[in-house]
Formats: sequence, C-alpha cells, structure tokens
Amino acid sequence: MGAATRAARAGAKVCGKEEKVVGMQKASGSCPYCGGGVVSMDVEAKWVLCFLLIYLKNKRRFACTACARCLITYPAIVQD
Ligand SMILES: [Zn+2]
Repeated sequence: MGAATRAARAGAKVCGKEEKVVGMQKASGSCPYCGGGVVSMDVEAKWVLCFLLIYLKNKRRFACTACARCLITYPAIVQD
C-alpha cells in the first residue's frame, strides 16, 4: 500500500504533455520576420496520464535561429 501510494504520487508529477527535441537540422528558406536562418526540429511529443503513457509521436517543427520564433508551416498545422 505504501509503495503504491508513493508510485501514484510520483506518477502524478508527470501528468500532462511533454515535448523533447530529438534532432535539429538546417532547413531551406529564411525567417519571414527577420530574414534569419531556419532550422527544422524533430520533436518527440507524448501525453502522459499519471504513469500511463497514452500518446507518443514525432513531429517536425521549424524555428528561426535568429529571433527564435516558431514558424508555422502547412505541414505543421496538419500534424498538430
Ligand atoms: Zn527570425
């Protein structure tokens, strides 16, 4: 009982959405805001319900290296 309670408490801390950047590479094009370089980031996203992993997927995001804005692209909208 004691161990189970501790596990539940530990699990509760990780409830929610987690995102981790697993890769980054230079992308073609330039930032529409400042003209800086653009990188594409492979992001591993997972949604955790207490200690159960309920969702995991990889998606690609684009960001500007100069102003750090996230750049919205057509594929990004589809993937989200
Ligand atoms: Zn920029």
